[in-house]
Amino acid sequence: MLLSVIIPSYNEEGNIIELNKKLTNTLKDLEYELIYINDGSTDTTLNKIKQIYEKDEHIKYISFSKNFGKDAAIYAGLKKSSGEYTCIIDSDLQQNPKYIISMLNHLKTHENTDQIAMVMKNRDKEKLITRLLKKNFYKIINKLSDTKLIDGASDFRMFNKSVKNAILELSEKNRFTKGIFSWIGFNTEYMYYNVEKRFSGTTKFNTRKQIKYALTGITNYSIKPLQLSTIIGSIISLLALIYIIITILEVIIFGKSVPGYASLLIVSLFLGGLQLIFIGILGTYLGKTYTETKNRPLYIEKETKGFDDIL
Ligand code: UDP
Ligand code: MG
Repeated sequence: MLLSVIIPSYNEEGNIIELNKKLTNTLKDLEYELIYINDGSTDTTLNKIKQIYEKDEHIKYISFSKNFGKDAAIYAGLKKSSGEYTCIIDSDLQQNPKYIISMLNHLKTHENTDQIAMVMKNRDKEKLITRLLKKNFYKIINKLSDTKLIDGASDFRMFNKSVKNAILELSEKNRFTKGIFSWIGFNTEYMYYNVEKRFSGTTKFNTRKQIKYALTGITNYSIKPLQLSTIIGSIISLLALIYIIITILEVIIFGKSVPGYASLLIVSLFLGGLQLIFIGILGTYLGKTYTETKNRPLYIEKETKGFDDIL
């Protein structure tokens, strides 16, 4: 098998048929498989997938027992794929399948390249708040972590078998696939693409989900936030010490009586807030350790069709 295409799908009933038509047209001369992952959709996505599965032997699918998230869907697809090259593509037609051919040709002709990631060229259709959040997220994560991320690099990418095996080795439960793509190393090249409009439906990542995902990204790849409390605590102690010295001198030398309530209240509120923030940060990491040690599966398959090893 030359190429496996992995397609995570969550409530994409309006897109499956059209996407499949485009993919089939684009790949028709190749030896390929299309692996659809129904990530616990509550609409008719699974029916649409079954419909195309009946008609085309290139199609295989995995259906989850509930929504486990795009990262779990990607992992499940990778695990079942058997192509020499693997490609991940969204099911909403925002990523034109024609780029699959460009990526494949590049990988085939450049032995030293292990992975090609598509980078979004046009960002202007995103909301201003989304753009601002994303820009700052990349700034923060690249400062805090040794795992560098490129702003705009998407999950739309293709890689060889070594990269696929490396990704599968990382079976962590709190998955941030974008970070994993970078953490594993290998020679990665970037190609630019124009993001198209969603064919049907709406995005599954609202601002709240995006913020949560960004925090996962930061805490998965850096423990620096844990060390922040020590640094800030030291600075505050130093400032307090200076303030104490000044106050004592004022009393001794100038005989000034020290006025109090307001400054006392401000300082204790400030410190109280700061302590709560750091307990929160500590809790975030502790929670992650907790979910990892439970060692629950990343996803649960309810139905799987098209793979040789499954009866
Ligand atoms: N997706 C998924 N599980 C989820 C959320 C999203 O499989 O819990 C899929 C979704 O069906 C789509 C891809 O991930 O194929 C990207 O999602 P979306 O288009 O909503 O994200 P955006 O392009 O807005 O970042
Ligand atoms: Mg999309």
